[in-house]
Amino acid sequence: MSEIGSRIAELIDALMGFIALIVTPDWGALIGLLPLFIVPLVALWFFSTGAAWSLMAITKPRASLRPVDAAPQAAERDAAGLPIYPAGRPYDARNAQIYPIGTLRTLSGEPLQMGCPGCGAVRLAELSSCTACGMEIRLRGRVQLARPAGPPPGGAARA
Ligand SMILES: [Zn+2]
Repeated sequence: MSEIGSRIAELIDALMGFIALIVTPDWGALIGLLPLFIVPLVALWFFSTGAAWSLMAITKPRASLRPVDAAPQAAERDAAGLPIYPAGRPYDARNAQIYPIGTLRTLSGEPLQMGCPGCGAVRLAELSSCTACGMEIRLRGRVQLARPAGPPPGGAARA
């Protein structure tokens, strides 16, 4: 056999040995190395999910609640100069002040009055149901009620 032929045979042998390493690996050794591959993957998974949840907790949109000003407001006046008290809003008739919804007493501790949104009867704001029409008012949070543009038609005739 010539020099070149033996060289080619050696090259082919080395190549076949290399292919054999890939095609039929030493499974026992690879199984022994398996924890080295799994542990970083698990750690990476924990890190990525922890980072994602932290990012979510930091950047998630939150309800922007501003505290309602508990100070009473001066009631608006009509053309005759009389204070207008919107129904469903507690008010202090003595000082013509309207308090935020949910307030039961004035700053000085006197009970507040409230006009019933159903029938318009004035009652104490502490009472949960109207003594005239029986309408029950449950105060849930401090939601501002919009004042109607005017009184309902026929209100003066009925009163
Ligand atoms: Zn009523």
